[in-house]
Amino acid sequence: MIKERGKNKGTGITIHPLLVGFWEVDQSMHTFGFDMGKRTKSCCYIWLILGAAQKILVDTGCADPEWTRQYHRPMDADTYKNPIEALAAKGIRPEEIEIVINTHLHWDHCFNNDLFPKSRIMVQKKELQYAIAPLPIHALPYESQMIHMRPPWVKAVERIEAIEGDLEISPGVAVVTLPGHSKGFQGVLIDTSKGRHLIAGDTCPKEENWRGNSQLKHIPSGIHVDLEEYFKTFEKIEKIADVVIPGHDPRVMESPVYPLGSGNYGS
Ligand SMILES: [Zn+2]
Repeated sequence: MIKERGKNKGTGITIHPLLVGFWEVDQSMHTFGFDMGKRTKSCCYIWLILGAAQKILVDTGCADPEWTRQYHRPMDADTYKNPIEALAAKGIRPEEIEIVINTHLHWDHCFNNDLFPKSRIMVQKKELQYAIAPLPIHALPYESQMIHMRPPWVKAVERIEAIEGDLEISPGVAVVTLPGHSKGFQGVLIDTSKGRHLIAGDTCPKEENWRGNSQLKHIPSGIHVDLEEYFKTFEKIEKIADVVIPGHDPRVMESPVYPLGSGNYGS
């Protein structure tokens, strides 16, 4: 159960977005039906949560540039870091990560689950079920066996825990189901000293998704399984989150740590 908003204030939990790579995409891939033909930079992040009872990592990033180029899209090789390098910059070794939370099982969010040998891996049961047999249009993002690929999450399947619904993972850190972009998508809601921060991931890949425009209060991603559920998800976010951190937005890097102004690297 998620505690009511307003309780648990004043925790020392911090969120550290770590860039592992970026690519360029059509903006409408992120903002469904808008900005077609406009190129935009899309960043791939993993999210380190410090100051909770356990060391937690949200998502494990994408493949290396060669794989990414071959199967998905051109990637900037110079800025690519594998997650072990990215965590080393924060002084964290992979075996120190106790919990991995996969927001969902698209390739660029779970590719490196196997690099965290001591970690429990938490995925929504509905996401696992869908990842096994997605619709053909989603076969590539899942690197599905349907198209003769080996889904990346299979590499550490024995450590995956299939969870169901909203759940407090550690005091001040909860997963919340946000279906729409994928069947079993989960965001991570974190009590911080400056309100409840949501790691929204691909539910709001860019700031524009949450901020909306003159036509829509909030804009779904161009990649989705269910728009009805997606708009209910937006209503849920309005109720539970004070700050929404987008999932692929370069502007996330304007602060190395969230909540804003909460300290230095590694704090
Ligand atoms: Zn996705």
